Amino acid sequence: MPELPEVEVVRRDLDREVVGRRIKAVEVDAMRSIRRHRQRKQFTSRLEGKKITGVTRRGKYLLVMLEGGDVLVIHLGMSGQLLRAKSAREAKPKHTHVVITFQQGGQLRFVDPRTFGEMFVTEGDNVDKEVEELAHLGIDPLDMAMSWDHFGALLYQHNAKLKNLLMDQKFLAGIGNIYSDEILWEAGLRWDRPSNSLTAQEVRRLYRAMMEILQDAVKYRGSSLADEQYVDLYGEPGEYQLHHKVYAREDEMCPRCRATVVRAKVNGRSTYFCEACQV
Ligand SMILES: [Zn+2]
Repeated sequence: MPELPEVEVVRRDLDREVVGRRIKAVEVDAMRSIRRHRQRKQFTSRLEGKKITGVTRRGKYLLVMLEGGDVLVIHLGMSGQLLRAKSAREAKPKHTHVVITFQQGGQLRFVDPRTFGEMFVTEGDNVDKEVEELAHLGIDPLDMAMSWDHFGALLYQHNAKLKNLLMDQKFLAGIGNIYSDEILWEAGLRWDRPSNSLTAQEVRRLYRAMMEILQDAVKYRGSSLADEQYVDLYGEPGEYQLHHKVYAREDEMCPRCRATVVRAKVNGRSTYFCEACQV
């Protein structure tokens, strides 16, 4: 599932490729991908003829701003991909559910084999009402300047296992299974440490690890794993998986202390960590 860095890479790609373009036509071939609309027309008619004025992000939701004040909201879900096509003649990948054609030529295609992703159009100030999750979204670590001591104060307000708290969307936006493991390894902290038990030094390490890992992941254009679908707007996989230290590296050597990376099952998900140097 794409996490914050992958969605941010797609946002930057969209910002470069679609802002300033005018939408000529929209085709939808799976109503499930636009399930908040009852009819195709409610979706397509609000897009056709409109110029795209900007692309922002709230957590893992992409917000494509349209002239006139409407917003095209996109969530990639488990397996969604946004792909640019230079021309309509380019072969459409299987599971292409929505195609946006631009007046200047070229298309934006939404491909989603598992159809957990979605697109919808709403008024700009209505997004929080449409998406319950966004009304209570936590801090966005890629977006918000926050001091480490403020972060520490927030950690102390909870008595939760660190991994659960990092992945709690009401606490922090967009961190999932991969980046929580990588951040905790970098910080030298175990996944099950209570969040209110950290020393000031540990808070600072966790804060710095979170910022560095997420920014590096964007720099390397996200993580693409063998069993997952993430690619960027140009169909290219990310490279950050090559820099993972523990995630999906069970039985490999910890790059810091040379102990063996182990895997635990936590809430039905795999958690990877080093029992020797994460405390
Ligand atoms: Zn280690």
